[in-house]
Amino acid sequence: MITDTHAHLDVKQFKPDFDAVIKRAREAGVGIIINIGPSINSSKAALQITDSKIKMYSSIGLHPEYVPLVDPDKSIPLKIKALEKIYLANPQKVVGVGECGLDYFKRDGQITGEEIIAQKALFQAQINLAKKLNLPLIIHCRDAWEDIFDFDFSGVTAILHSFTGSKEIAQKALDLGFYLSFSCIITYPKNEALREIIKSIPLEKVLTETDCPFLPPQTQRGQRNEPANVSEVVKTIAEIKDLTFDQVAEITLNNAKTLFNLP
Ligand SMILES: [Zn+2]
Repeated sequence: MITDTHAHLDVKQFKPDFDAVIKRAREAGVGIIINIGPSINSSKAALQITDSKIKMYSSIGLHPEYVPLVDPDKSIPLKIKALEKIYLANPQKVVGVGECGLDYFKRDGQITGEEIIAQKALFQAQINLAKKLNLPLIIHCRDAWEDIFDFDFSGVTAILHSFTGSKEIAQKALDLGFYLSFSCIITYPKNEALREIIKSIPLEKVLTETDCPFLPPQTQRGQRNEPANVSEVVKTIAEIKDLTFDQVAEITLNNAKTLFNLP
């Protein structure tokens, strides 16, 4: 059984052929999918996704992309309250807070100081929520590694999702007790440095994910990604670690169960 700890199955890209996507996931051996809520609406929508064979869980969160820039001091607490309400109505199905974090990447121009301040406030509020609800934190970090470790993570477990950082960042995260989650981008030829990191870190701290519909494996570049492709992540880790597919599948499944407190 393999595990996709980070999927976005509620998005419109999956509407036309959702059943076929799930069928392929089953056939690939996917047993658990965690649907990630990057917004309040998707946090709600993720809860509606069910399957008779695959265990579906979800998270509640606000991606830094959705940071409120108008009156953040007032609107952030309201949004956090809304997330908490979703959790309280569905405590068995909601297993994490996120994805949240910092994202300083801008396609055009540069991020403003005001936006950085708001992103940090939104992230801090979700760290506090994770502590309060005793849920793991699913962290998204892009072009913001210099700031991510300034936060106080004591009392919270966290995942760096679709890890793309350096060896030093990986070590910092492991020192904090974080898990590193790897996506299909570890199959890209240019990502030798990421494969080196996987080689050097304990498998007990590794999770597998797709971040679908984004980040397809090398064999499907430019196409929509889907949970079945988490098999590519497991296969690649097995090759790097010189283990069998089943060994990596079992350990990463157990890691996800431990971290997300799954039955
Ligand atoms: Zn995501």
